Amino acid sequence: MTNKPIDIVVIGAGIIGVSTALELQARGRTPLLIDRKGIAAETSRGNAGAFAFSEVEPLATPGIMRRAPMWLLDPLGPLSIPPAYALKIAPWMLKFWRASWADRYDQAVTAQTSLMHHCKAAFERQLSRFGDANMVRRDGQLELYEGTRAFEQAKPKWQRRADLGIDITLLTDPDAIADIQPGLSRTFTHAGFTPGWFNTTDPQKWTESLARQYTDRGGLFETVEVRDLTPRSDHMEIKTNQGVLLAKQVVICAGAWSHRLAKKIGDSIPLETERGYNTTFAHSSVDLKTHLTFAQHGFVMSKIGGGLRIGGAVELGGLDLPPNYRRAEILVQKAKSFMPDLDVSDGTQWMGYRPSLPDSLPVISPSSAGYRVIYAFGHGHLGLTQSAGTAELVADLAGGSEPSVDLAPFSATRF
Ligand SMILES: Cc1cc2nc3c(=O)[nH]c(=O)nc-3n(C[C@H](O)[C@H](O)[C@H](O)COP(=O)(O)OP(=O)(O)OC[C@H]3O[C@@H](n4cnc5c(N)ncnc54)[C@H](O)[C@@H]3O)c2cc1C
Repeated sequence: MTNKPIDIVVIGAGIIGVSTALELQARGRTPLLIDRKGIAAETSRGNAGAFAFSEVEPLATPGIMRRAPMWLLDPLGPLSIPPAYALKIAPWMLKFWRASWADRYDQAVTAQTSLMHHCKAAFERQLSRFGDANMVRRDGQLELYEGTRAFEQAKPKWQRRADLGIDITLLTDPDAIADIQPGLSRTFTHAGFTPGWFNTTDPQKWTESLARQYTDRGGLFETVEVRDLTPRSDHMEIKTNQGVLLAKQVVICAGAWSHRLAKKIGDSIPLETERGYNTTFAHSSVDLKTHLTFAQHGFVMSKIGGGLRIGGAVELGGLDLPPNYRRAEILVQKAKSFMPDLDVSDGTQWMGYRPSLPDSLPVISPSSAGYRVIYAFGHGHLGLTQSAGTAELVADLAGGSEPSVDLAPFSATRF
């Protein structure tokens, strides 16, 4: 530990923090990246690996609060709240309900669309400068529906995407679906196919490879835990489990734990976690041609390395309750019934903490301590997708240049 202020400390080495450190370094800054556990040790390790630039709809859709009680009655359904957490999450649910009002929903879609537009371009820039093209699959995504009713309900979403210029194909018979992905149950009668959707071959390795680019260029990384943050007259004081760091600027990219650090400098941000589950199989018994989304069942199936990953679910259960891996088992059972040739022996289960704001938009914003502390967290289901774009925006904020996206909808004070 040193008494000379560090140029800029980036807290959290998930995909957001790693991308941010790399971008800052590329712009001539001298960051110190820190994490209490290591690179990609939490949520960025086990996600589904999708760069889902077409996913612009927030979770809080109009009418969701009418449908939610039905889901919540099923403790293993796609959306659940463990009884032990029901009271604690009530204030967040209230904000979530407000976010589902038609006008706010439309505002969130508009904001997310502009961010995604930027993120897609930023991803290509990141890939060409630092990424490994062999770690990106451009296989598209197939979103499946059972029956006309479910498809009709989803159609406004597809229409909106078409209106936004996103290339989509709608399929209305099982044979057309089988042409893209053989082996699926014929109960899936309808689907939407998005060819411009990509996946990384492995989100953990992707994050690690970006971190290597950073350290190979002389970037510093330390495994320390931040305990406290205090603004001083011309720098920030960062108390860690290994001593005190001084920094001219700090970026908080601590995923689902970020609000605890924001609180230390007086900002109360309604960050919750949507816990998600998955099971990873080292080998795949089916030839997965594309990323599959089982929309009505709240889970996806993606190729990871030479195997596959089955995961999803939203459990509003906070950071401290133990995982309920029965949720992961249910998703695997469903997947097996939808793809009978699937061999589901020997999977590894995992739970991750999606960092989520009630309106499904991240916080990319200066803090109440001004530009000395910049926030970059709360990317929910889309942290991998939005990582390169977020990194560029944070570097703009930190360097005092005008961000290319209107960041008002992503402000820390919007709630
Ligand atoms: C099941 C599931 C599937 C998903 N699929 C996708 C997908 O396909 N595509 C997509 O774009 N997104 C997906 N996501 C979401 C994505 O994984 C997250 O949005 C993203 O990983 C968040 O990244 P992050 O860097 O903000 O947080 P994290 O990866 O959680 O990193 C935060 C880091 O901060 C560190 N930290 C916390 N507190 C401190 C402290 N006090 N001191 C030091 N370090 C600290 C932690 O150790 C951690 O390493 C999925 C999530 C889940 C759960």
